Amino acid sequence: MAKERIPNEGDEMQIDGGVCEERVARAIPEGFNPDYLKIYYGKLFPYADMFKWLSYGNDGKHPACDHSYFGRREFSFTLENDIYIRFQSFGSAKEMENSIKEKCPFKIDIGPVYSVDPAKRHAYAQGGNNVFAPVERELVFDIDMSDYDDVRYCCSGADVCLECWPLMTIAIKVIDTALRDDFGFNHILWVYSGRRGVHCWVCDSKARRLNNEHRAAVTDYFHVYKGGENSLKKVTLAGPVLYPFLARSYTDVLKSFFEEKLLRSQNLLASEERCQKILGFIPDESVAAELLDKWQGNRRSSISKEDVNVVRWDQLKHMLQSGKQKIQGLRRCVEEIVFSYTYPRLDMEVSKHMNHLLKAPFCVHPKTGRVCVPIDPNNCEDFDPTTVPTLSHLLEEINEGSMMMESNNEWERSSLGKSIEFFRSSFLQPLLKSCKEEMESAYSAKIKQSKNSLSW
Ligand SMILES: [Zn+2]
Repeated sequence: MAKERIPNEGDEMQIDGGVCEERVARAIPEGFNPDYLKIYYGKLFPYADMFKWLSYGNDGKHPACDHSYFGRREFSFTLENDIYIRFQSFGSAKEMENSIKEKCPFKIDIGPVYSVDPAKRHAYAQGGNNVFAPVERELVFDIDMSDYDDVRYCCSGADVCLECWPLMTIAIKVIDTALRDDFGFNHILWVYSGRRGVHCWVCDSKARRLNNEHRAAVTDYFHVYKGGENSLKKVTLAGPVLYPFLARSYTDVLKSFFEEKLLRSQNLLASEERCQKILGFIPDESVAAELLDKWQGNRRSSISKEDVNVVRWDQLKHMLQSGKQKIQGLRRCVEEIVFSYTYPRLDMEVSKHMNHLLKAPFCVHPKTGRVCVPIDPNNCEDFDPTTVPTLSHLLEEINEGSMMMESNNEWERSSLGKSIEFFRSSFLQPLLKSCKEEMESAYSAKIKQSKNSLSW
């Protein structure tokens, strides 16, 4: 089969009659366009893995398999020119693959599994017997960096950089730990949203079967951030002690990220305005005034070689937590500041409702051209959004690879390979193993029950 050759500007480039350096010659311009996307969907998108995942073991030969399961899942596509088509469904991996290749969606969203095939919902509605309603859906979380604009000074809106990305690292660590340790979930997938945030998919069967009420309860568990656009104090920590989840998050994650990273990288106490903002957390005006006086002093003297943010933070802590501050509220202030500047900010509505759509992993973000790759929560400090493979980079790799041996799996030697391997080994394989176990034990229980009823 003839290989498609991706057109690129460098092909004709020559220097002094000789072909210039190979890497430069093959450079495919950065960006995002339908031609790039077509090749991506043609050669790299992991259809089989997506199908395996969303089938949850129901694609096998076991008598307990529900072969209608995958076909009752809603997909929605955003096409070029913002044309949005909902309630797509596919009977098989091949059907899904053909549809994606044909329509070349700029974005693919995944919705719930419904009681009936969502594409045929109108026909069922006329029959009257089947109610069209969502019956299963992963518990999902959506965290977006633009919700942190009041606590980051390096970027705003859709922009992210390595100075503010640790806010996402914090969110992954705090939420992942609680989902595993406090809720007992095991099959959790974290995905880079392609631009400014992260998505979390909790795929345990007990998570998929939560109703809206349960989802709201789980979401509320994480709800500490209660600030609006205009309120300075984003967090109110009530009671004499923090409840265990918050205390653990504070000690294990928030405090160290705040003191060792964000304080300096965001220059949280480097200007009068930023100082005033933090002083606004302190309810006792005389204490705040005394602190401001100290801070103005160390600006004038500037004898210390130490970072001004760190010096000022130590002064604040000393003042608020020293023995003479008997009032509980003042001691708690330090924690409230740290929580306000670091604690994860969830898009609550996404998590609360079964029928909310969420962008599929391995989509490509149209603004950045970056692939929505999984993130390893155990090594999330190492995740760097600026080095995530872009479409053009991947196409370049395909071009280079086409000179070499043929392979059925183009992704294996592309930089997407690592992500797909991780998806399989850390998420998909353990997930499918427990799906199989659950299916077998449910089935044998059913057999036992019917035998018992027969013996009567
Ligand atoms: Zn930034």
